[in-house]
Amino acid sequence: MKVRTRFAPSPTGFMHLGGMRTALYCYLYAKQHGGDFILRIEDTDQERYVEGAVEVIYSSLKEGGMTYDEGPDIGGNYGPYVQTERKDIYLKYAKELVEKGGAYYCFCTKERVESLRDENGNVRYDKHCLHLSPEEIRKNLEAGVPYVIRQNIPAEGVGSYEDAVYGHIAVDYSELEDGVLIKSDGLPTYNFANVVDDHLMCITHVIRGAEYLSSTPKYNLMYDAFGWERPVYIHLPPIMKDATRKLSKRYGDANFDDFISKGYVAEAIVNYIALLGWCPKDNSEKMTMAEMIEKFSLDGVSKSPAIFDDVKLRWLNGEYLKAMDDETFFKISEPFRQKSKTYGKYDGRLIAALLKPRIEIMSEIPEKIDFLEEYGKFDTEMFCHKKMKTDKELAKTVLPMVYDTLAGLEKFDHDSIHDSLIALAAEKQLKNGQVLWTARVALTGKDVTPGGAVEMAEILGKERSLERLKFSMELLNE
Ligand code: GLU
Repeated sequence: MKVRTRFAPSPTGFMHLGGMRTALYCYLYAKQHGGDFILRIEDTDQERYVEGAVEVIYSSLKEGGMTYDEGPDIGGNYGPYVQTERKDIYLKYAKELVEKGGAYYCFCTKERVESLRDENGNVRYDKHCLHLSPEEIRKNLEAGVPYVIRQNIPAEGVGSYEDAVYGHIAVDYSELEDGVLIKSDGLPTYNFANVVDDHLMCITHVIRGAEYLSSTPKYNLMYDAFGWERPVYIHLPPIMKDATRKLSKRYGDANFDDFISKGYVAEAIVNYIALLGWCPKDNSEKMTMAEMIEKFSLDGVSKSPAIFDDVKLRWLNGEYLKAMDDETFFKISEPFRQKSKTYGKYDGRLIAALLKPRIEIMSEIPEKIDFLEEYGKFDTEMFCHKKMKTDKELAKTVLPMVYDTLAGLEKFDHDSIHDSLIALAAEKQLKNGQVLWTARVALTGKDVTPGGAVEMAEILGKERSLERLKFSMELLNE
């Protein structure tokens, strides 16, 4: 039997990292077993319709490297893959379920259903319409009385199943209610559509959030009533912001796009979310998609809630940036470099290469490099560094020599600058650090910079470097 998994998001306009993780596990599991990964859009809640939301789903999955084998935009043998396009299918099956006793027509008005609200504000339908005679039902249908179709949950008994992560799950039917399967607008609810679609699309493994654990016995009643085989259930633990709060937009970033726009790379995000609820046997952390496919295993999926760890995601993202080739980083960092005061004034490739190993997320770029454009009067105490054995007096003698050395260079690249300054130190019997520290402070007006004097001079270029050295010499003599 070919493994078939599906990711079935509702088009809400954003891709929550929890959804992204569900998609990822569906993808990993299917690919590991040589199976198919299907995308199905669950849009039966028309009130929540958001323009452009489906495109967000397509693009997030593509960016995340989760290529689906079937889906609304690419087709497949089990379509349509959008639930509102499957309306007639659901009605047909709902009627069949009514005939089989698993569901019934309900003609109750909204007011009547409302009147069933208890002191806690909960409405529990009282099976009133279950007891209508076939004659009454026929008459109502012929008269066009609005109706819904409700599931007929047994009054007693226990629904149980084995979940691949959570183990044995048992729910008393008395705790479940006769929920609506087909709404008065003819569209199905999630509770019905997921069963019909998963069956018709030959889904073998249903992977989804743990919030569906306790309603799954309802779905099993339907599978059983239709005589369909139940799928394997794999419910996933929630992703938490901390011990008590779920990761949600209310408490900060929770969507894939939020992280992309902050300068995380898609591969790093996907790699990180793989670890939210799953631990590979060999405890690997940085993994390619191919490695994740190979290592993924349900044994390693935990039932305890996963805590989203910002620090770890940042670290992992930094590792991805470091491993990236310079040209790719140059390209993807463009929007972030654009926000820096240095943009357009310096060689972008040099700036990118300087920052790549020194940041964790690309939104750090402006704050890391803006200082280049903020040069001006600075505290000359910075020239004094005990360990480096430098001070202002030394700076007064070293800077003119650095000036002449750099002024004499024809080629002003990293190696020429480096070699000439090292040669200068040797010639004057100074320590390299004495020359380099002093030059760096003079060139930047800072005692902490990404890269040292050589990198700074190269990025500043000859003219600016000489100007700044001169400025510093004057400052020292004030
Ligand atoms: N549309 C449901 C959701 O977004 C899908 C749940 C499922 O995978 O069955 O939560």
